Amino acid sequence: QVALQDEVQHLTFHDGVTGLPNRSYLEQRAGDVLAHRAINEDTDEIAVIFLDLDGFTAVNDSAGHVRGDHLLAQAARRLRGELDSSSTLARWGGDEFAVLVEGSARAQRVVDLAERLGRTIALEPFQVADREILLTASIGVAFAEPTTDSGELLRNADVAMTRAKERGAGHVEVYAAHMHDTVVSRLELQARLREALVEGAFFLEYQPIVDLESSQVTSVEALVRWDRDGRTVGPDEFLGAAEESGLIVPLGEWILREACEKVAVWRVSDWDIGLSVNLSVKQVMSPRFVSTVAGILAETGLPEEVLTLEVDEEVLLGEGGEAVTRLAELRELGVQLAIDDYGMGYASLAHLRELSVDAIKIDPSFTADLGRDDTVTLLTHTIIQLGRDLGVEVVAEGIERPEQLEQLRSMHCDRGQGFLVARPMAAAGMEALVGGEAGVNL
Ligand code: C2E
Ligand code: MG
Ligand code: MG
Repeated sequence: QVALQDEVQHLTFHDGVTGLPNRSYLEQRAGDVLAHRAINEDTDEIAVIFLDLDGFTAVNDSAGHVRGDHLLAQAARRLRGELDSSSTLARWGGDEFAVLVEGSARAQRVVDLAERLGRTIALEPFQVADREILLTASIGVAFAEPTTDSGELLRNADVAMTRAKERGAGHVEVYAAHMHDTVVSRLELQARLREALVEGAFFLEYQPIVDLESSQVTSVEALVRWDRDGRTVGPDEFLGAAEESGLIVPLGEWILREACEKVAVWRVSDWDIGLSVNLSVKQVMSPRFVSTVAGILAETGLPEEVLTLEVDEEVLLGEGGEAVTRLAELRELGVQLAIDDYGMGYASLAHLRELSVDAIKIDPSFTADLGRDDTVTLLTHTIIQLGRDLGVEVVAEGIERPEQLEQLRSMHCDRGQGFLVARPMAAAGMEALVGGEAGVNL
């Protein structure tokens, strides 16, 4: 019975003509490999090479199916001779073969392999009865991206193979349409952003931060926007590209100067208001950043203790501690330091003790689940308590509903920010608030 089961297993997953694993086997294997990778975060490339014999149908029709099958078996032997144990060769069907390549660290090696497979088919004629027949192969290669599933991966390789065939027999084509598009649009975006900075198409909005006990506006957070031909574009859509291209450094400097100037003017009209400005890692690590900040403070006359610089948790832990040194220098200038989006996973509660910061801003995802999720509610409470114990001010972000505000007040959270308090607004909107009693109705 075991032998019979093995036999059934073999017939289910193998191709009788070539002795190779068949399509079902490869589909399963690809699924397993990709699922496995998702867990291991393997950096090696996983790829599929799709190979179609050019002109095979003509051979089959003229020489007959038996001889056609014999040719396929020869082709399979040649292909297998080029592969090692990290690849699975399967007969996909008809005159199509597919290779699943696992654990090949570099994309170039996969492409090299694809070309070798093409050569092993094309270089020597196949023996069909008493005739010698020269064939070529059209080959498509697709690489797994982090979110590609096995169906997509195989389809992409098939698409690439079809394109290779369209270019004429014997070509290798790599499926890269998507990659190509994103690279191109990224470069275009970076060029647009450089122009925008020159043309002054960026502007700032300010979101009030209030003292939760008194409802007084104690400071504002400056948030950058881009006026792209009349349409307002938010930072999430362009900051990544600005960081990649290094534009964040001059852009960040503009943001800091613009915000400091504005708030310095507001303060002249006797409004004791603070300012928070976000920093990206690139900015913090750029040469002379500390002296740039000092220069802007001197130019605008904004007192240093009024300025809070916000950085992500990652900034504090990355760059081999170099960023922390930078931030310590900034703090020596007398400015305040805040950890933004606190609780998102990098700086654990334990780390907080080692970092010299003045404030932590609880991530909006915590605020969102307050009172709905017991663990989140408990964690928020713990963070607020820890902040108090360490003498660090706690700001809750993303307050949208009255019950969230109530919860935070009962936990004695110092300050808050969110749509319930006020949406980010143009400078003019803030000026209207200054005219009033600088409080909000909560
Ligand atoms: P952030 O520093 O955590 O800023 C708060 C974000 O939450 C803002 O999004 C704000 O509009 C949004 N927000 C405020 N209240 C609520 C609320 O009640 N509910 C919800 N759902 N969202 C709320 P925005 O302006 O899109 O900024 C996104 C992120 O971009 C900022 O997160 C910050 O990390 C970054 N960013 C913004 N401006 C700058 C800048 O000038 N320089 C740098 N380096 N980064 C910036
Ligand atoms: Mg922020
Ligand atoms: Mg935040």
